[in-house]
Amino acid sequence: MKMDDCIFCRIANGTIPSKTLYEDESFRVILDVNPATKGHALILPKEHAADLYELPDEAAKDVLVLAKKMAKTMRDRLGCDGLNLVQNNGEAAGQTVPHFHMHLIPRYAGDGQTLGWEPREAASEELEEIRRKMTE
Ligand code: 5GP
Ligand code: ZN
Repeated sequence: MKMDDCIFCRIANGTIPSKTLYEDESFRVILDVNPATKGHALILPKEHAADLYELPDEAAKDVLVLAKKMAKTMRDRLGCDGLNLVQNNGEAAGQTVPHFHMHLIPRYAGDGQTLGWEPREAASEELEEIRRKMTE
């Protein structure tokens, strides 16, 4: 399904122009308009899925293979020193556009960006409770 009121559907399907780095029948890879670093790109599926929960299994498999291909091209052509894959689901996780997308963020030594979290202490009871909820 393509949604007329979804900006990433329109970009992915070419209704709205974008700086496209790669395109096939299922995906378009574009440069982010507000990049974290030089070369920050987004993988967009052409079929609408709001987030990872809605993404069909086939697209979920293909997106990582495509991410790997793009990562290698970024390493070889942009000369990045590292690369982050980021994929936000839900407002609480920082998702601002409700159409699945995977960020490819090339990293350069000393680029000043911080992607991460504050590690905290967790009691073993907490870890055990989570293990139980997830598995039993
Ligand atoms: P999120 O926070 O949802 O994971 O990421 C959304 C990303 O999409 C942001 O990095 C933002 O800069 C980018 N973005 C939002 N609107 C547009 C647009 O119209 N074109 C492009 N190329 N990127 C966009
Ligand atoms: Zn969409």
